[in-house]
Amino acid sequence: MSDAFLHARGIEKRYGQTQAVAGVDVDVAQGRLVALLGPSGCGKTTLLRIIAGFEYPDAGDVLLDGRVLNGKTTFVVPEKRHIGMVFQDYALFPHFDVARNIAFGMPSGVNGRKRVDELLELVGLTGLGGRMPHELSGGQQQRVALARTFAAEPALVLLDEPFSNLDPALRTKVRAEVRQIIQALGTTAVFVTHDQEEALSVAETVIVMLEGRIVQSGPPAEIYRRPATRGVAEFLGDANMLEGHVRDGELSFALGLAAAASTHAEGHAHVLVRPENLALTSDGGVQGVVVGREYYGHDQMISVRLGDGTLLRIRAHAGDDVALGATIGVVLRGSAVIVGE
Ligand code: ADP
Repeated sequence: MSDAFLHARGIEKRYGQTQAVAGVDVDVAQGRLVALLGPSGCGKTTLLRIIAGFEYPDAGDVLLDGRVLNGKTTFVVPEKRHIGMVFQDYALFPHFDVARNIAFGMPSGVNGRKRVDELLELVGLTGLGGRMPHELSGGQQQRVALARTFAAEPALVLLDEPFSNLDPALRTKVRAEVRQIIQALGTTAVFVTHDQEEALSVAETVIVMLEGRIVQSGPPAEIYRRPATRGVAEFLGDANMLEGHVRDGELSFALGLAAAASTHAEGHAHVLVRPENLALTSDGGVQGVVVGREYYGHDQMISVRLGDGTLLRIRAHAGDDVALGATIGVVLRGSAVIVGE
């Protein structure tokens, strides 16, 4: 038996022909901020709703702090789970002011006024208790939704795509704020997102879900640098996937030779090289022709086709003058990582 705070085992859920969740195990330690990351339709929301008690699983157990919420003969209703849920659209009551929205979540017997003020301060909205939801920005509404969730003193907070309704300029700021609020309270939290950058920048642990299954979990840097499979590598960011061969502990591939991890079997290998781990040079390297250029302002992505037909994407400085059609050298600047199928 796991000693994890949130422990879900063997969760399955099917809708007609669709296997939304296909046998998922999740363990979350107390106080952790976790991202459940995957493309749209991979089953994230279904899993979150099962944990919250809004959906019955076809199979599997859910335990929170050792208490069975879903089991063979047990089903605890959502309001008795001590789980708070923050929805994508915040779901504030439009005809209640901010203070009443927050007080709505509070257990009886609590000094309402004082606690509302504390929560307003926590989420950085001191003095705005009298505002109506429509008088707040998207980011402020998000913070009221958080305060209302925390008012109920949940053991676990689940957030479903919490930042997707914010415009990009505000999103980065609100993400950092929400992270800080959750960490200040030490609450265990799981948020669902399809946005890799969001998962990597906000969470302490990222759980990657593809096609109803969990394929990898770990700290953001580990997931990004050492993806377990090709699917994870490609979903997590720009990835050059090359074919290689390991022989006597040495990997040979389009960019030359590199040391292979000692654990890797001899023979054919899928090799991941991130665009930021390649560099362009006019002096040596593997020769190729520049076939594409995407300018992003802070940097640019250059596409180079090597002589053997391999197409590489290379992140270059914004100021580098790279002409389409030019012949150029490519060198490996960081690591090449062998990943599974
Ligand atoms: P995600 O949150 O990763 O986008 P969902 O959990 O919402 O994925 O959906 C997983 C799969 O289950 C999708 O194929 C979706 O169409 C299907 N699905 C989700 N909810 C229902 C439902 N209530 N009825 C039928 N199919 C559903």
